[in-house]
Amino acid sequence: MPKPGGGEVLVEVGVAGLCRTDLKLIEQGHRDLILPRVPGEEVVGYVRAVGKGVDESWIKKRVYLYPGTSCGHCRSCRHGAGNLCVSMRIMGFHRDGGFADYVVAPESCLIAVPERLDFDAAVFAEPLSCCLNAIERADPQSGDRALLFGAGPAGTLLARVLSFLGVDVTIVEPDERRRVRAGALAEAPSAMFDIVIPAVGDESVLDQSLERLAPRGRLVVFSGLSPNAAVRPIDVNRLHYLEQTVVGAYGCSYRHGVTAIKWLAAGSIKVDDMISHRLPLTQLDTALDIVRTRTGMKVLLYPSGYMFNSTVSTTQDKDS
Ligand SMILES: [Zn+2]
Repeated sequence: MPKPGGGEVLVEVGVAGLCRTDLKLIEQGHRDLILPRVPGEEVVGYVRAVGKGVDESWIKKRVYLYPGTSCGHCRSCRHGAGNLCVSMRIMGFHRDGGFADYVVAPESCLIAVPERLDFDAAVFAEPLSCCLNAIERADPQSGDRALLFGAGPAGTLLARVLSFLGVDVTIVEPDERRRVRAGALAEAPSAMFDIVIPAVGDESVLDQSLERLAPRGRLVVFSGLSPNAAVRPIDVNRLHYLEQTVVGAYGCSYRHGVTAIKWLAAGSIKVDDMISHRLPLTQLDTALDIVRTRTGMKVLLYPSGYMFNSTVSTTQDKDS
C-alpha cells in the first residue's frame, strides 16, 4: 500500500484504461519511461487518503487523474502547454501508474468526476484529452474537411470530437471490422483535406497524409514512429507553395482533462460503444494481446475484484 506524501493523495483505482502506448512501453520502452515502473496512465478511482497539506474534502470523492505534473511557470506552462513542461512527470512513466489496486498522485492532478458520469466512461478522459490537444493543434474551422487514418480508439475519438465541432470527417481504416463499425473507407479518397491526422504509427500513412493535404491544410503528427522510420524526406516546396502546416501533438494538459470530463458528463462525446473488453487486472497479458492484435477496441482493466463484478452487472443492464 503506497503512502501519500505531502501534497499527494492515495487513490483506490476503479478503472484503468489500456492503450497502445502501454503496449509500446512494455514491449519496446519509451522516451519518457523510467524503470522500474507500474504502468497505467488512464485512471479513475476514489480518493482514500490525503497527505500533508491536501484538502481533506477530497476523501471519498470520485476522481479522474490527469496523468501529468507540470511546474506551472516555465515557458510551455505559461503558454498553455503544460504537457511540454520542462519538468513534466507522467504517471505510468516517471512515477507509478494505475495498473494496481492503489496509486499515489499529486493533488494537482485531481479532476472530480460528476456523479452522473460512470467510471467506464470517465476513464476515456485521458485518451479524449490527447485528442483535444491534437485537434487544438489542427485549428479546426467551420466547414473544414478532415481525413483520419485509423478507426481504433484514438481515431474514433478524434472523429467524434471533430464531428462535434462541425467538421466533416472521412476515416480510412484497412481492417474490415473496424471499418464497418466506423463507416470508414478502405483507402484514402482522391479529395484534398483541410485537416489530416494519421492516428496510426505507420510511416507510409504519414506520406499519404501529406499527399491528401489541401492548400493551407494542417497535418497533425499524432502518433510517434520508430526512430528509424521517423526521419523522412518532406517536399518543403509543397509546404511553401500550398502554405501548409505540419504540427506535432503529444499528450495533453490539465485543462484538456477538465474539458474532457465536462464533455463526457454532458454526453457530447459518446464512448460506451467503444468498450470491447472489461477484464480484471490479473488478465493484463490477455488485454495486451487484444491491443497488439487489434482484435478489440477499448480495453478496460479493473484492479479491485468488487469493482469488476459490479461493472459487469452494470454492463448487462445496459445491454438488455
Ligand atoms: Zn513547466
